[in-house]
Amino acid sequence: MNRIGETTLEIDLNALAHNYAYLKSKTLPETKFLAVVKAFAYGSDMVAVAKKLENLGVDYFAVAYAKEGVLLRDSGIERPILVLHPQPAHLDCIIERCLEPSLYSTNVFGQFLKTAQEKKQHAYPVHIKFNTGLNRLGFREEDVEFILKQLWQHNEIKIKSIFSHLAASEDLNEQEFSKNQIATFENISSLLIEKLGYSPLRHILNTSGILNYPQAQFEMVRSGIGLYGYGNDAEADAKLKPIATLKTIISQIHKIKPDETVGYNRAFKSDVPKTTATLPLGHADGIGRQYGNGKGYIMINGKKAPIIGNVCMDMIMVDVDGIDCKEGDEALVFGPKKSAEAFASGANTISYELLTAISQRVKRVVIGA
Ligand SMILES: *Cc1c(COP(=O)(O)O)cnc(C)c1O
Repeated sequence: MNRIGETTLEIDLNALAHNYAYLKSKTLPETKFLAVVKAFAYGSDMVAVAKKLENLGVDYFAVAYAKEGVLLRDSGIERPILVLHPQPAHLDCIIERCLEPSLYSTNVFGQFLKTAQEKKQHAYPVHIKFNTGLNRLGFREEDVEFILKQLWQHNEIKIKSIFSHLAASEDLNEQEFSKNQIATFENISSLLIEKLGYSPLRHILNTSGILNYPQAQFEMVRSGIGLYGYGNDAEADAKLKPIATLKTIISQIHKIKPDETVGYNRAFKSDVPKTTATLPLGHADGIGRQYGNGKGYIMINGKKAPIIGNVCMDMIMVDVDGIDCKEGDEALVFGPKKSAEAFASGANTISYELLTAISQRVKRVVIGA
């Protein structure tokens, strides 16, 4: 029987605590733990997740953009918050809200230093990001001299951490590349620390890095997807618990005659009679068109109901032939008993994309707070 009454994303904070404990068990007791809570904590509930992790003793948070950090501060989060990709428009706000920027280029470094000077800061904590092979954001080795020179001349900012990011930590075929990135990071950070006169934290591992390269923990690790219950491989997935369950309900059931079609552009056609169910979630809720036309299925009363035809903005239609169900019955899109990773990979994408796409229109229900 339906208990939810609308499409709902359930967030289980006990599962989050389990995942945090599991990932912590993979690091040394003295290794600090940074929780990545960007993008609404991977589409879940950023504030509820951050509060729970703060209570559990997490050392650091990271968000992508300043406004995500502001939301955390407004909710009373007190731990340090690293802003991974600060934008020029938000540098003032970063200082006003005690957020800590990643500085990844001479350009951003200069802009932030100027802001810190205007705001008369002293030793404001910043994080220096090095590019060791991902070629996305980061200084290169030859920039170390620039960084040192700036820091010797100006005391408005101080390096709190030095970090880098692995390009393929989940891919064991790329072990040599990853180890190379780790070695490059070790070299550059030593070079910088030697001349700095103090030792900032160093960190390079994300979730799969924690699981695959435990020797490279340095002083801190950063985890996102693992906290939310996915580990990029079957063995890790078995140890982690998905925190989010996406459920919906059957709005209407149709009996389709042979030669009738279902949905936009008549994309689904059956030559036999068929029973279909219409569910109230679509691409505007985060179930993209790639899940349509049989690429994804929904669980209804313990059975697989393939998505038929094109995904609409607000609805999907599923094939419920042979499934004992009625209007109002619950339907499971993903959760601990139906992996978001498997659902995503069936449509050629990854759990990260599926989870973060669940739009703010979907009601969140937090359990275990
Ligand atoms: C998003 C992000 C992470 C988290 O990675 P997971 O694979 O989700 O653990 C870590 N570091 C950086 C720089 C990121 O952008």
